[in-house]
Amino acid sequence: MRRRELLKYLSVMPASSMLSRYVEVDKHVFAPVPGINRNLFEELGVRTFINAAGTYTAMTGSLMRAEVMDAINSSSLEFCMLDELQDKVGEKIAKLVHAESAVVTAGCFSAMTLGLAGVLTGVSEEKATLLPHLEGTGLKSEVICQKGHNIVYSHALRNTGCKIIMVETVKELEDAINDKTALMFFLNVQSDQGKIMHQEWVDIAKKHGIPTLIDIAADVPPVSNLWKFNDMGFDLVCVSGGKAIRGPQSAGLLMGKKAYIQAARVHMPPRGFNIGRGMKINKEEIVGMYVALEKFMSLDHDKEFAMQRAQVDLIATAAKTVKGVSTEIKVPPLGNVTPTLHISWDKNLVKTSGKELQQKLRGGQPSIEIGGSEENKIVLTAWMLKPGQEEIVAKKVREVLSAAV
Ligand SMILES: *Cc1c(COP(=O)(O)O)cnc(C)c1O
Repeated sequence: MRRRELLKYLSVMPASSMLSRYVEVDKHVFAPVPGINRNLFEELGVRTFINAAGTYTAMTGSLMRAEVMDAINSSSLEFCMLDELQDKVGEKIAKLVHAESAVVTAGCFSAMTLGLAGVLTGVSEEKATLLPHLEGTGLKSEVICQKGHNIVYSHALRNTGCKIIMVETVKELEDAINDKTALMFFLNVQSDQGKIMHQEWVDIAKKHGIPTLIDIAADVPPVSNLWKFNDMGFDLVCVSGGKAIRGPQSAGLLMGKKAYIQAARVHMPPRGFNIGRGMKINKEEIVGMYVALEKFMSLDHDKEFAMQRAQVDLIATAAKTVKGVSTEIKVPPLGNVTPTLHISWDKNLVKTSGKELQQKLRGGQPSIEIGGSEENKIVLTAWMLKPGQEEIVAKKVREVLSAAV
């Protein structure tokens, strides 16, 4: 089979195609085996479910689009040099997000570690080998963070060997800056938990010549967040690839100033003398991430939002047919910005708990996962539903509520 024919063939393959479905048709040329459809979840006895919860790592994040699976499948058929691919994909991504440079990382967490590692060492391989044991090296070793921004993911920064220095006020921040300060870190999703907002954080950092890094892991949509913080002057911006962007769950992006991205790459595979070797990202994930980003940015985001809104409306309408049930649709202002449906009930009329309903939905056929439950409330979203699944969720939610009347 000629390459051109093969490519044609590949482009019409179903989205769910797996590599195990290829056959060698010529020396080192593979084509898909028609009709083989191995269901590994069934084979392994792993429960699958309708995701009315959201982009949770525990629930395997998000589903990659057909275009992304195409990119993954087709790139799996050839070799290339890992660094060359990162260079070329990085250039394309950087243009899309208004950054000088970008690199595909193994998630947002890894982008944070690698970004800081690069800031600490520059492009020196010798210095890179020293991490995470900073003592006595003369390297900087402190990261400043607002108290309200210090969540579990700060561990990504501590993995470099740095200490986190917590501040609350501008005065405390200015006092904390010293010649050991490597970075000023900002966590977008908790920006309302700190006294200092984005622009002021960047301005103070610039005044003192300290680089800044922002974690926007789960903060797209809005799509504009992909470039907003680059435009604002953050030196490094980190985002998850496998949440709403629907790239590979194991991918993310580090974007920002060229010098820092170049330095971060010294800490990345194929090099192995560094703290980043365990954060390998393969060529399929690299192109998958690129195509996912391209696709995500090309969407009509108002239309996407309206569709999600209509889906939760449908579920709300079904739930409200049960006497004693009320619903509310809220859009979180920060992180997971999607219409979020809160279904609550009068426990005198609907005699069940949120936990019990959640268990029933999980145990049903098909199984449904929701975002969470409280005493007399369940919470769910529609953005990870496949088209049409909102009908099933609506029916099931009404069913379990009615059964408790
Ligand atoms: C999800 C998340 C991370 C980790 O991102 P990965 O892409 O899973 O590595 C970091 N920070 C915040 C705020 C997150 O929500």
